[in-house]
Amino acid sequence: MIGLGQNSNCFSGRWLATPPLYFFKQDTATKKKSAPEGKSSAVLDHGKAVRCAYCKTVITYQGNAESMAGKHVHHFTNPGGFEFTIGCYRKAWCRIVGVPTLEWSWFNGHSWQYALCNQCQEHLGWFFQNTQDKTSFYGLILDRLIIEDGSNT
Ligand SMILES: [Zn+2]
Repeated sequence: MIGLGQNSNCFSGRWLATPPLYFFKQDTATKKKSAPEGKSSAVLDHGKAVRCAYCKTVITYQGNAESMAGKHVHHFTNPGGFEFTIGCYRKAWCRIVGVPTLEWSWFNGHSWQYALCNQCQEHLGWFFQNTQDKTSFYGLILDRLIIEDGSNT
């Protein structure tokens, strides 16, 4: 495990230059194009691919879906009056930008930062981190994602 959070200086204006420590590590075994029949359990473990609706890059898998505060899907309205429907995921291949803040956080005790698509830089949701135990998750805007139907082989 990487000792994140020990060095808070990385957020003092130089965060853009810091390495993307939160990148979702894709299992290279799932990249095999011609998986032998009956040997697809590694892929199934991930569940359906969840892609950026703008550039179709895989952002996460349904296997990473997580229930936060009792449910996976949440409806929120931000201070600007915009409504969002988000799904919570343990991991996602997103670029995290901004300074962590607790202001207007939708999840009690969690700071948030923006989560952007690594490929096209569209805003896909937010990265939330518990300020106490440092556990984290992503809240991704569902209408900015495409969840595959699982019929791709
Ligand atoms: Zn994208």
